[in-house]
Amino acid sequence: MTDTPILLTPGPLTISMRTKQSMLRDWGSWDADFNRITGRVRERLLDIVHARDTHECVPLQGSGTFSVEAAIGTLVPRSGHVLVPQNGAYCQRIARICRVLGRAHTTIDYPEDAAVSAADVDRALAANPAITHVALVHCETSAGILNPLAAVAEVVARHGRGLIVDAMSSFGALEIDARTMRFDAVIAASGKCLEGPPGMGFVIVRREVLEKAEGNSHSLAMDLYDQWVYMKKTTQWRFTPPTHVVAAFDAAIEQFLEEGGRQARGARYAANCRQLIEGMAGLGLKSFLPAAIQAPIIVTFHAPPTPGYEFKAFYNAVKARGYILYPGKLTTLETFRVGCMGQMGERGILGAVDAVRQVLAALNAAA
Ligand SMILES: *Cc1c(COP(=O)(O)O)cnc(C)c1O
Repeated sequence: MTDTPILLTPGPLTISMRTKQSMLRDWGSWDADFNRITGRVRERLLDIVHARDTHECVPLQGSGTFSVEAAIGTLVPRSGHVLVPQNGAYCQRIARICRVLGRAHTTIDYPEDAAVSAADVDRALAANPAITHVALVHCETSAGILNPLAAVAEVVARHGRGLIVDAMSSFGALEIDARTMRFDAVIAASGKCLEGPPGMGFVIVRREVLEKAEGNSHSLAMDLYDQWVYMKKTTQWRFTPPTHVVAAFDAAIEQFLEEGGRQARGARYAANCRQLIEGMAGLGLKSFLPAAIQAPIIVTFHAPPTPGYEFKAFYNAVKARGYILYPGKLTTLETFRVGCMGQMGERGILGAVDAVRQVLAALNAAA
């Protein structure tokens, strides 16, 4: 497997050999040993955000977006109204989910290089009492912006509305604490900062909110209330679980705890991010965001000024040196992205920076 390139992407990302090897066993979905794994995963996910006393963890098959859609559909009543502070593609996706599900919504629009402002959310909630929920993306993975979760949670709580957090690319690395931040739901998935394989999401839902959510969902398969009730009664998933993914996610969480939990994971990503920005700056490549709002998860870089630069050729040349980059997602600027998450291999981020150095040298020689 030495020729497998390292993924510098926001998920799926490179997972450890131990996590991969935990997928070699088959499990029956009715088997008590398998259902004990599901139970352990749910409890540990609650513990990561200190929510065992107040919230329930409801897992769901599918990619992260399935869980976001399920959370909006299950937790926002059909008469609800969602405020979406919007500074990137994942915020836009939430607005689109609201549109598709027929939930009223309002956006506050920001440029792609600005963080959400809690003061704006405060004003919007004061101006419109019809708003029942705020949906915030914690780390906007499109540009890599860190949005101010604690400040927004304080404002939403003060107005007595519900807060739904897409914490897909922050859960397990950045601080989320149910004891100090009030939220109705936090959504994440197996294949991001917890470094499992992709294939399941989960929603941490305030217990009293979930208890009242019966009948809200437009969908059978995406109904988190139904999934929760069934799981509570039987310990099993309602429909076929992604058994190998659940087992590997359990192994990944075990390694997360061995590493030192959320703080150690966050510190590792922050060190990767610093090393990446410094290393690329040394090659003349500038990061897009101001340091104050850069999340240590994924970094957007301006395209190299090299004449004839084209992302696909750049990507292929870096891939040939063992690293997978990610295209940019900005609407007007030519950029590319590099992730700080996952098992980076022996040489870590410096190996990736060196691969980019070699490719830029070759491009410059050719130009
Ligand atoms: C990865 C991600 C998602 C989910 O994307 P999927 O492709 O469905 O896994 C949602 N929100 C954010 C912020 C993400 O980074």
